[in-house]
This record gives sequence, structure tokens and C-alpha cells, in this order.
Amino acid sequence: SRNEIVGIVGSGFIGQSWAMLFASVGYKVHIYDVKAEQVSSALTNIKKQLHILENSGMLRGTLTAEQQFQCISAAASLKDCIKGAKYVQESVFEDLELKRKVFHEIDEVADAHTVLASSTSCIVPSKFTADLTHRENCIVAHPVNPPYYVPMVEVVPAPWTSKEVVTRTQAMMKEIGQSPVMFSREQPGFGLNRVQYAILNECNNMVKSGILSAEDVDILMKDGLGYRYAWMGPLETAHLNANGMEDYLNRYGPTMVSVSKDFAPVPLWTVPESQSLLSQMEQMVPEDKLPERREWRDARLIALAKLKKEM
Ligand code: NAD
Repeated sequence: SRNEIVGIVGSGFIGQSWAMLFASVGYKVHIYDVKAEQVSSALTNIKKQLHILENSGMLRGTLTAEQQFQCISAAASLKDCIKGAKYVQESVFEDLELKRKVFHEIDEVADAHTVLASSTSCIVPSKFTADLTHRENCIVAHPVNPPYYVPMVEVVPAPWTSKEVVTRTQAMMKEIGQSPVMFSREQPGFGLNRVQYAILNECNNMVKSGILSAEDVDILMKDGLGYRYAWMGPLETAHLNANGMEDYLNRYGPTMVSVSKDFAPVPLWTVPESQSLLSQMEQMVPEDKLPERREWRDARLIALAKLKKEM
């Protein structure tokens, strides 16, 4: 392995995925967790995962599974984890107070040139980095689950994040084979969740009004829009569906506006307001079948990642 260090703070599901991604290009990865036993079980799990990936031909990088595993080690303290690190990726529970606390602890022991990134899915970085000494080094790098197979990462700066840290984070993500999306500034939900919520709102409204069943809403996506979206985004889709975007606007613009004006308001995402949706979902995948169905999903995501790599 090379001599540059990456610190992983929090060794749950996302922390483990990051450790594997950084080790895939030979970084010296230090993992820290408040629960010491969590780090040892994380290491056991990472070792197992790396060998499974190697056997299925899906291991990233040019090093063997064993060489990659040798790049990763447990840190006894937060200081040992991030001292001298080029880059730190925080992946503790999604809780604002905890993020504040952990970023304060990181700030106290971090070097002046270490990038301090958070995996947070929803919390804008200004909310937990404002009063830190190294606040210009703080940034969000939000991955998608499971990061080993889904490469997009949202890179979101706080108002005080330096340009250099933005560029270094982007380079780091590209280096480990992820696909960074660069935000010019923060906004609630970043980008992925805003698009996801727009989709979910309309899907919920169609089920609520009884226009479509929950099953048919999901078919609409998985056997319809989803086919394109695994390969190209909605904007390129539109561009290709007409003679370019200008033609698309001329042809479909007025229809899009009038249909969009017919949208119902944002639904209340509460249990009492969602009874029909809840019973239909329980019928689609009963609660005791969820683990089985997740395995089914992961196998398909792996197959898709393989196909996208080959094409
Ligand atoms: P997780 O519950 O699997 O792991 C969190 C880990 O943080 C635990 O091992 C816990 O012991 C550790 N921890 C708690 N307090 C700590 C502290 N003070 N110092 C060090 N370690 C501490 O959670 P996860 O699913 O890996 O999520 C981690 C982060 O990644 C969250 O911010 C989450 O929003 C984000 N994220 C999650 C997903 C997802 O789908 N799971 C996707 C993208 C981003």
C-alpha cells in the first residue's frame, strides 16, 4: 500500500463501504468507532466481502483482496485514526447533535490540510461545521446505498468550504472510481433526495386517489422510466426523445406545464394518512419477507453494475 492515510470515523454499513473503496486504490485506511467491538466485526465483515468480490470478479482496483485488506487497520482512538490523514470520512449515525459533537472532536485533532468529509444523507454541512477551526476543510460527500455498486456521490460544500477542498474531494472520489456530483452550494435534501421525494410525492398521490395500485405505480417505474434511467438521466432522455432539447421544449413544453399544474399538493407522509399504501405494501412484500427481498435486490444491483462496467 502507499503511504497516504484515509481516516474512517464510524464503522457501520457506510463506513465499511468507504473503507473498501479507499483500500481498492491502496490508501492506508484507519477505522475508528466508539464501540471497539464494532471495529473488529467491521474488519471481519470487510475481509469476507473482499474475498466474495474477488471470487465473483467484482473486486475493484488492481490489488488482490488480501492486499486490499492489509491496507485497512483498526485505530484505537479518534486521534490515531485521523492524525496525518489526507482525507477523513465521517459515517456515524444520522443525528445532528452527534454530527456536531463528532466534528468538534475531529476538529480538535485534525491537521490543517486534512479534508473532513461527512456521509450525511440530509443534514446541510453549515449546521454542524460553523464554529470549527478547520471549517474551510469541511464538506459533505453523500454516497448512495450500496456505495460499492452505486457510484454516485453528492459533494456539497458549506458556505465557508474552500475551493481547494472542493477540488480535492472531487479528485478523491474520481480516484476511487466513484462518480461525484458537484454542488455549487448546499440546499436541504441535496439533489438525489429532492428528485426522489418529487417522485415519491406523485406516486403516493396516485395511490391515494386510487388512480393506480401501488403495484402498478412500481411497474410504471421499473418496467418503464427505470429502463432508461439506469443508463441516461431525464435531461438527456428528453434531448434524445425529440430533435434535441429545443425541439422538446417546443413540442412538449406546454403539455408539461399543464399536466404539472394538475399535480396534487405534497401529501402528508403520516401513518394515518397512508393506510391504503401501507396495506398494499404489506401485500406486495410482507414484513417477514423483507430480508429475502433485500438479497434479491442486491443480487440484481450487482448484476447491473457488472453490465454497466462491461458496456
Ligand atoms: P450505522 O448505524 O450502520 O453505523 C453508524 C456507526 O457509527 C456505528 O457503528 C456506531 O457505533 C458509530 N458511532 C456512533 N457514534 C460514534 C462516535 N461518536 N464516534 C465514532 N463512531 C460512532 O449507519 P450507516 O447506515 O453506516 O450510516 C452512517 C451515515 O451515512 C449516516 O449519516 C447516514 O445518513 C449516511 N448514509 C447512509 C446510507 C444508508 O443507506 N445506510 C446511505 C447514504 C448515507
